[in-house]
Amino acid sequence: MASKLLLTFVIYHLISTVGLTMESPRPRPRLSNDAEDLQTASLDFGRMSRVKPLAVLHPTSAEDVISLVKAAYGSARGFTVSARGHGHSINGQAQTADGVVIEMSGVGSKSRRLKPIVSEDDGYVDVWGGELWIDVLRTTLQYQMSPKSWTDYLYLSVGGTLSNGGISGQAFNHGPQINNVFELDVVTGKGELFTCSKQKNSDLFHGVLGGLGQFGIITRARIALEPAPHRVRWIRVLYSNFSTFTKDQEYLISLHGEAPSDKFDYVEGFVIVDEEITKNYDASTASNVVDQQVDALLKKLHFIPSTVFTTDIPYTDFLDRVHKAELKLRAKDLWDVPHPWLNLFVPKSRIADFDKGVFKGILGNKTSGPILIYPMNKNKWDYNNSAVTPDEDIFYLVALLRSALDTGEETQTLEYLSNQNRRILRFCDEAGIKVKQYLPEYNTQEEWKGHFGDKWELFLKRKMEFDPKRILATGQRIFRPSL
Ligand code: FAD
Repeated sequence: MASKLLLTFVIYHLISTVGLTMESPRPRPRLSNDAEDLQTASLDFGRMSRVKPLAVLHPTSAEDVISLVKAAYGSARGFTVSARGHGHSINGQAQTADGVVIEMSGVGSKSRRLKPIVSEDDGYVDVWGGELWIDVLRTTLQYQMSPKSWTDYLYLSVGGTLSNGGISGQAFNHGPQINNVFELDVVTGKGELFTCSKQKNSDLFHGVLGGLGQFGIITRARIALEPAPHRVRWIRVLYSNFSTFTKDQEYLISLHGEAPSDKFDYVEGFVIVDEEITKNYDASTASNVVDQQVDALLKKLHFIPSTVFTTDIPYTDFLDRVHKAELKLRAKDLWDVPHPWLNLFVPKSRIADFDKGVFKGILGNKTSGPILIYPMNKNKWDYNNSAVTPDEDIFYLVALLRSALDTGEETQTLEYLSNQNRRILRFCDEAGIKVKQYLPEYNTQEEWKGHFGDKWELFLKRKMEFDPKRILATGQRIFRPSL
């Protein structure tokens, strides 16, 4: 495959913005079986799984969630309950056929839910579990504060990303989003509400973080904040050699313990198959100090000389960059299409083999969407949380973010791409590359046991304790409900 590799990293700088939050009156919860509600809840971003629930709840508060789960757990003929964040799963993880979907992020009865409350002194924000990260950002910026760890895309819910991990180019430095949470309110599968943290009800706290919705529904999260940067110097450079590219990425993430002026704040890479990048760049307006810091760091890297693309943009524009791409794709009717995505954590020791077998092998010279690749430090992931990573100090995210299109080309079809995903997984298995799926999809409990490895027994124990009837998040297909 003729590929180039794009390394992108940024450095933040600090300035400020000001604003306020608002209160509004209280509506009632709504249990709906409107065709439109059922239709929305039966779909997700993946567009590959369609399962209609019996009803949809638009909660106005944690009490509504408690009442529903109590009814599901306590009634003689129980039912399942699936929290749905913004429905951005790929394989029906927030769907259920035998019960009720709780629309945590829907606007239905938004006004009574917890509004984000910022504590400037203690450096955190309390938010409703269905809050979208874009709204968390908008609120905290009013206090010149910002969460530390992000996803590339902000129209995802807090509860949804905390049920997985929540990663982006800041994870090497701050860890995933699940490592940047102080406290949670969680409604368990018995309908009991607990406040939990590392110190209090810690088993529930750690279970829920990366727990794929299996132990409870997050109704409130207390998220760590830092002073918000104001602007971002965004630098992109090109590589033609895979091992030079990965060496430089690993060097950049090794600087995580250094002073802020001696490291970048965000590091991500892309495999560019079509050898084309189209970006417009504005003239830089940042200070000489930033120039010097960037130059000093760039000197240590080994990209193709003369391929430095630099831009200087507001921090919010940088964080919200994928939304711009979304709007463009929507305008061309290319957003609501099937997305057979495959996200893998690949151990550092085997990333070169992965390159040979997958990028230069299975993928050929056609892909159908961006391929992200960036390393993370395992010591930034709390082992007590449910999320699983490879058993090495450094591992890479490889994200094949593909869209299946009806263009008449065989290589763009859902069948072809899904088949290719299976080939990639089979290749890793046969080559003994011990990858872990991120945003995992499995169909049998045996596969799930393999996924969780030595964390499985604890996962199972927590399930028995917090959701003994196994009614929560059945769309993950880990446990069968006992109804
Ligand atoms: P949903 O898909 O609605 O739910 C996901 C799971 O969490 C379900 O099992 C659901 O039952 C459960 N759940 C939802 N809310 C709660 C709650 N309050 N309490 C308990 N369980 C709950 N991920 C990254 O880490 N980094 C990225 O950069 C990134 N970029 C993305 C970009 C796009 C365009 C898309 C579509 C996804 C991206 N993701 C990324 C994946 C994203 O983290 C997952 O889709 C995640 O599930 C969040 O989506 P959601 O909020 O819509 O949750």
